[in-house]
Amino acid sequence: MSGYLDELEFMMMEEGFTTRDLLENLLMEVSQTSDKGAFFVADLGDVVKKHLRFLKALPHVKPFYAVKCNSSEGVVRTLAALGAGFDCANKTEIALVQSIGVPPDKIIYTNPCKQISQIKYAASHGVQLMAFDNEVELRKVARSHPRARMVLCIATDNPRSSAFLSVKFGATLKSCRHLLETAKEMNVEIVGISFHVGNGCLDLQAFPRSIADARLVFEMGAELGYKMNLLDIGGGFPGTENSKVRFEEIAATINSALDLYFPEGCGVEIIAKPGRYYVASAFTLAVNVIDKQEVPLDPPGSDDEESGSKKNILYCINDGIYGSFSCIFFDRTCPSPVLHKKPSPHHPLFSSSLRGPPCDGKDCIADGLELPELQVGDWLTFENMGAYTIAASSSFNGYQLPQIKYIMSREAVRLLHGKLPLPEEEDRESMCTPLSCGWEITDTLCITPVFTPARIT
Ligand code: PLP
Repeated sequence: MSGYLDELEFMMMEEGFTTRDLLENLLMEVSQTSDKGAFFVADLGDVVKKHLRFLKALPHVKPFYAVKCNSSEGVVRTLAALGAGFDCANKTEIALVQSIGVPPDKIIYTNPCKQISQIKYAASHGVQLMAFDNEVELRKVARSHPRARMVLCIATDNPRSSAFLSVKFGATLKSCRHLLETAKEMNVEIVGISFHVGNGCLDLQAFPRSIADARLVFEMGAELGYKMNLLDIGGGFPGTENSKVRFEEIAATINSALDLYFPEGCGVEIIAKPGRYYVASAFTLAVNVIDKQEVPLDPPGSDDEESGSKKNILYCINDGIYGSFSCIFFDRTCPSPVLHKKPSPHHPLFSSSLRGPPCDGKDCIADGLELPELQVGDWLTFENMGAYTIAASSSFNGYQLPQIKYIMSREAVRLLHGKLPLPEEEDRESMCTPLSCGWEITDTLCITPVFTPARIT
């Protein structure tokens, strides 16, 4: 594990004690105090579990975690301890992963539009693997980083993603020959091809199509005398179980395409840059209701007979779209809350809306929810809040990032500490459950919750 987790404070959870149990305890504790700030519970065992699942489903692919998705310390340290590589988009992310001891050969600098000073920073910090998709970038790299090993990023054809990246990045197949020729003239080393099918990709054919395109560019390169040896299949994998397409289904299509176009023994190393996949389900956000008002559901002047009898309750909570709910912009999703106080089935439900702290009318988190009436001081929790939430939040209006409380099951800690052997491939799936403190573990197993503040030393 080589000490990556030495500095991290987290709560060690006994088997059977779930994230939900911990939240219940924490919410009870904070309810006694005046500080009712929003906070995250991050289950690092879930990240460990995802890693094992990745290795099982894509045995020939090495993961390089996309730091931009969630750069929180616990995630980065856990993945470093697991031996993952890192996809960094800029100097700040490179500095972050290097500050905990990640070696430069475990880093790929993937932003195809890099500031010259940051290319020089990568050069002086030993980071050689970098992406490009245009001639200007090649010129900058030729001048500022002669030892760079460049990966040509190709465009994908997949608008069925929540964020379709090829609108902005990626060379067209037509321009690839020219770019490869230009790189030769400039003496820039090209070692491979990359693509990204887009975030939240639902098209099962997207990966096979892009892998086939990458093969074409490998052949183009071979004609020009290149000996490329790296294929980067990017990110875009789902991070939660409620995704329309399962990770394993996508992995199966990738494996078939790799068998066809880049079979084992062909001398090409395959990497991927998953972001959302690793972190989405590990984070649960707890927020507090800080204000409420009733507004008529029907607009004034409406001739609906029952006009005035229907109401919408507008709740203001202490995190919003400029904070952890920035994922609403990114993913175009509508997060739905879990109520902390379980309502009785007899309580009437009201049309309800959630707004962020009152500083901007656009801070709208959800509309049209059917909720029992809540009170100021009540808690709501949101699951699956790890991807593009904290990472994309801002300090607008003095927002502060919610505190993150890290937890890990004792089993996951043992595994990371090297006290358990990494499970053999066929056993990995069965190993997974106790690693996470996830909701799915039955809460009857542990009557007295035990959690110990921990550091691994
Ligand atoms: N790699 C690159 C270059 C990206 O731009 C992104 C996200 O935008 C990722 C990886 C991670 O994508 P995802 O979170 O969909 O896996």
